[in-house]
Amino acid sequence: MHSKAYIFRQQQLLVDDNFQLPQVERFQHDLNLSEDGEIIARDLQEDESVPEGYQLVPIRQLVQVWSRQQFEQASRAVQLLEWRRNHQFCSHCGHQTQQHVSQYAMVCPACGYNQYPRVNPCVITIITRGPDEILLAKNARNKTQMYSLIAGFVEVGETLEEAVRRETLEEVGLQVKNIKYLASQPWPFPSNLMMAFKAAYHAGDIQIQENELTDAQFFKFNQLPEIPFQGSIAHAMIMHVMNGTPVADDTKEWL
Ligand SMILES: [Zn+2]
Repeated sequence: MHSKAYIFRQQQLLVDDNFQLPQVERFQHDLNLSEDGEIIARDLQEDESVPEGYQLVPIRQLVQVWSRQQFEQASRAVQLLEWRRNHQFCSHCGHQTQQHVSQYAMVCPACGYNQYPRVNPCVITIITRGPDEILLAKNARNKTQMYSLIAGFVEVGETLEEAVRRETLEEVGLQVKNIKYLASQPWPFPSNLMMAFKAAYHAGDIQIQENELTDAQFFKFNQLPEIPFQGSIAHAMIMHVMNGTPVADDTKEWL
């Protein structure tokens, strides 16, 4: 029996020239992504070559050519493979683990401890000021001219709204109000769940956190710099605030 396969080498996925997945023979060690086994995931071994007519494409690129559902399935595949690779041993007692027969869990035969895949919650916030301005910031690690939104990991013991307030204060020195949830997007770099919020400027002057950002400014809608690509939640959030379009439509792609 043949299955549709997500085959990765790290964060790169094997696809043909039309970005379609290969159909392969199933092996016992493959990760099942569908109950009937028609969709599987596996790693391309280091000594395995890329088959004729196929290429390895960074999955970040696929967000622009695939539908949202296709991209999310690829995200899920790469995260589960990475999780399995990183949990070969029990984190409690150090014994070698086994894959659970029916669940996504790595089981320790020695002490019975189960390790499950985890996602890291992140907040991403679009901050408005007045009717036609948004805050955009340039990340220090990004070598392009792209400006994006304020984002960061939720800390232990923190609510999502507290994370929004803390990240904004830390990164740009501003206080925000009227924090409202918009939508979410799984983002497999490496295993994040991006939760989108809208907030309004409340008080303070922009003071950037210099090891994180190189610039931050309020931009007028008609004078925006280079912004994140279509397919990212940041892009959809900017369009939402400017044009009133929904951030995500569950039946369709990212807008
Ligand atoms: Zn153990």
